Amino acid sequence: MTEGDLPPTLDDDTLAAFDRVQPIAASDAEIEAAVRDADLPALLAALAMLTQDPALLADELKPPSPSMTARIAPQGGLSAEAQAKARTLATQALIRYRDAGCPEAPTPSPEWLDRIVQFLIRDGHEDLMDLLRHEVNVPDDRGAPGWHVSDFPQAAGTKVAVIGSGFAGITAAYRLKQAGLDFTVFEKNREIGGVWWENTYPGCRLDTPNFAYSLSFAQKQDWTQQFSQQPEILRYLLDVVRRTGIRPHIRVNTEVESLEFDEDQAAWKVTARTPDGSAHVEHFHFVITAMGLLNRPHIPDFPGLASFKGEVVHSAAWRPDVNVKGKRVALIGTGASAFQIGPEIYAQVSRLSVFQRNPPWMLPTPTYHDDLKPGIRWLLGHVPSYGRWVRFWQFWIGVEGRLHLVELDPAWQHPVSISAGNEALRQECLAMLQQQFADRPDLLAHATPDYPPGAKRMLRDNGTWPQMLKAGNVGLVTQGISHLSENAIHTTDGQRHEVDLIICATGFKAADFLYPLKVTGRAGQDLHRHWDGDCRAYLGISVPGFPNLFMTSGPNTGVVVNGSAIFSSECQVEYTLRALRHVLSQGHRTVDCRPEPYAQYNAWIDQGNETKAWAVAKTSSWYKNKSGRAAQTWPFGMLEYWNLTARFRPEDHVLA
Ligand code: NAP
Repeated sequence: MTEGDLPPTLDDDTLAAFDRVQPIAASDAEIEAAVRDADLPALLAALAMLTQDPALLADELKPPSPSMTARIAPQGGLSAEAQAKARTLATQALIRYRDAGCPEAPTPSPEWLDRIVQFLIRDGHEDLMDLLRHEVNVPDDRGAPGWHVSDFPQAAGTKVAVIGSGFAGITAAYRLKQAGLDFTVFEKNREIGGVWWENTYPGCRLDTPNFAYSLSFAQKQDWTQQFSQQPEILRYLLDVVRRTGIRPHIRVNTEVESLEFDEDQAAWKVTARTPDGSAHVEHFHFVITAMGLLNRPHIPDFPGLASFKGEVVHSAAWRPDVNVKGKRVALIGTGASAFQIGPEIYAQVSRLSVFQRNPPWMLPTPTYHDDLKPGIRWLLGHVPSYGRWVRFWQFWIGVEGRLHLVELDPAWQHPVSISAGNEALRQECLAMLQQQFADRPDLLAHATPDYPPGAKRMLRDNGTWPQMLKAGNVGLVTQGISHLSENAIHTTDGQRHEVDLIICATGFKAADFLYPLKVTGRAGQDLHRHWDGDCRAYLGISVPGFPNLFMTSGPNTGVVVNGSAIFSSECQVEYTLRALRHVLSQGHRTVDCRPEPYAQYNAWIDQGNETKAWAVAKTSSWYKNKSGRAAQTWPFGMLEYWNLTARFRPEDHVLA
């Protein structure tokens, strides 16, 4: 899909249009029916903001919010009685709002916002208020830089390069535009979207709810599903690009191949391959990398791979001409990508062989593939800020998420789990597996992981994966792959599996940050040689000796069980704009992280990771690098990262 494929459905091409709701014309009964589907805590908060009615924040309606287990407590754990009362009050409030002619939502006073948060989240929530204003105070874009380059005459002529135009690159571009900076976005593909442009495999969709997996400054109200499919997400990004007006700054089909710091010019020499194959060289004072983390396909070097005469396709490099119909297909891998591909294709193929090394833990998500309930869609489209409160509420539920369940208790003695909480989570997931494979004990044995939950990414399941494995034309192969021949995959037990098409859902070169970009910093230092396969950064953003370079999705920023990558990349971009403000306002030309805070920060991160299931467990995962260090993962809560990146610390940098 490209922008040209989009039907011209948008009559208002402004960012504000994302938040716009329709006036209510529904009957009392229709309103009551919609409220039946509502996420009640978020609806009460949105209506309290809209109507300022204290009855909506009564103590008896306060969600107890039990900690997350394998499941999330519906309605924040409210009793049936409290839910009924909340529905009645919400319906009445909406009817009154309709009868008053749907007036504009008032800007809430700080005291009133405080009260809502006290109700929804907790007392003593000061650490949350900035974030709340960022998220729900609609008329005011709290993430905006709050400065303009014209404020600093000495900064005139400053140029910034952004590499990549996925979620993070689009965010960076938008914030740079707000600051009035001269910027260029380089995109290697022929369209924006990053992984959501590249991944078009059958069944591709989100496995993080899209309220969280979307941009704070572009809160779409008309998602059709909670875990949207790839076309809807790409379409969202195309809309964001159009509505932010950043399109003219984006150079597609242009891959940046190298960055070289030019000390004399205090700028990066950026070399990019242009659509006609020639090299384009240009200097930029600052560079923001937004190259993603999970986008350079890893295809294992299976012996004999070159001799295989059939088709081989990687999940992230799916081609429209790949036809699975009637073929003998091998699906290698059982990670998040395979989990979506397998159930989508098995009914079309003559035979599907799933090659599994380690089974994943599955999180029960019965509504995974469902459309959003009509009532929720109606509320999103008619109640100002409801979507933003749903997002904030989900953020709060997920801010610690299942972190407490993946923390090592050194005193805990168990061959698999690492703490009592981890064992409770394991038992919940085991119960689901036992139920799903009750009729197939042979498959149950193979589908049961022998490592603690949280050591690898847990996958959402609504029953489709087990259903696929049980199908007559599907075989689960658990022996290792020894080699490939002309038309078969051979396993270590001597078996030969004849196939026509191999789908490698074998993941990405996740440990090689910024691969394959060549980055030469101060004194000719090569960044990849400096890292030597063990990537680190200060806040996941900067590396000493590589001034004026800011990363998004950098080392140790990946969230495992508590949040969304979009949230962290927005933190990184907003932090970068704070850094730029400091540098430009003070008339500096370079900003370089000091080695001491970099080392201290990384020691702190390593300490946090060391006690987490993903570091403790021996099992393989993309969270660890070749040396076994968890170099991809952020080990704390999301609020901690938000607060950490909320301020640029000049004392941690050399400014010149
Ligand atoms: P992945 O999680 O790295 O899984 C790769 C799979 O390939 C694993 O099952 C792995 O086995 C297997 N594998 C790797 N090398 C192999 C070999 N030599 N022989 C046999 N099997 C091999 O990759 P992914 O599924 O593409 O997912 C990567 C990440 O992308 C996810 O964790 C997620 O963060 C993101 N993602 C998100 C979505 C979404 O939001 N909807 C969808 C897809 C991906 P082992 O388990 O034994 O290592």
